[in-house]
Amino acid sequence: MNLSIFENAKSYLSESLEKAVAAQDDVRQWKFAISNLVQATELFFKARLQMEHKWLIYEDVDKRKRSVSIGQAANRLNALCQLNIDYGEGNKNKPTSDLLLAVRCRNDVTHGGFSIETEQVYLFFRILNYISYFCDSQFNLSVKTLCSTSTWNKIISDKEHIQEQRNSAAKLIDEKSYTELIECPICGFETFVVDQGTNTCFTCQHKEYAFYCENCERITLESELNWDRDDENEICNECWYELCKAQEMEDYLMDQKANFHLHDKD
Ligand SMILES: [Zn+2]
Ligand SMILES: [Zn+2]
Repeated sequence: MNLSIFENAKSYLSESLEKAVAAQDDVRQWKFAISNLVQATELFFKARLQMEHKWLIYEDVDKRKRSVSIGQAANRLNALCQLNIDYGEGNKNKPTSDLLLAVRCRNDVTHGGFSIETEQVYLFFRILNYISYFCDSQFNLSVKTLCSTSTWNKIISDKEHIQEQRNSAAKLIDEKSYTELIECPICGFETFVVDQGTNTCFTCQHKEYAFYCENCERITLESELNWDRDDENEICNECWYELCKAQEMEDYLMDQKANFHLHDKD
């Protein structure tokens, strides 16, 4: 293993932890905490690929010029080391993976409309959880050794605070016997309550309009809807795509029919 990639990964991670602590006084630091965490993750993935073979960090192993992106690294690790790293785009059955969300956050591609920093806090801790597990299982590296005790204690207390929020949300949901729950787009916990138009996450207090898709009856959040759609129907993205495709096919068949008649006259 080329140590410089591994050492680099460690320093990005330690920088990320410092930024997360700085964010307690200045929420704008969350973005940098996440950017550094994404950078660290990408480098840890490459370091792990190098353990298999040093050429595997290249996009094209024959040319060996550009190195792999974080998504390619994840795919390669999944195929070679059976790691199950989730780098998927969201669909009807599952939300977009945390890693992809974090990469978008680093690249400044955000979906507006609600407090971005709150979203970043939860995302940061989900990825930190994952990368801690990854470092421990793949490199036998404990993440807390990368920062001072006081920094680590602050990180842990933030993490525990989130866990407490989640636990009290779960307790409240249980007491009120709510059953229509979905994963919250902000905190990622399945504590967003849709029952009787509650439309609120009990962990992070995020509120937004939620409805049942008129077509497949799946609970759909307004923020999940594609921005470029111009319909007024309360249907989910997938059903909307299906309808568009069906409409295009119908138009195509009509055109074909029209052409056919034209030829008929010849
Ligand atoms: Zn939430
Ligand atoms: Zn639908």
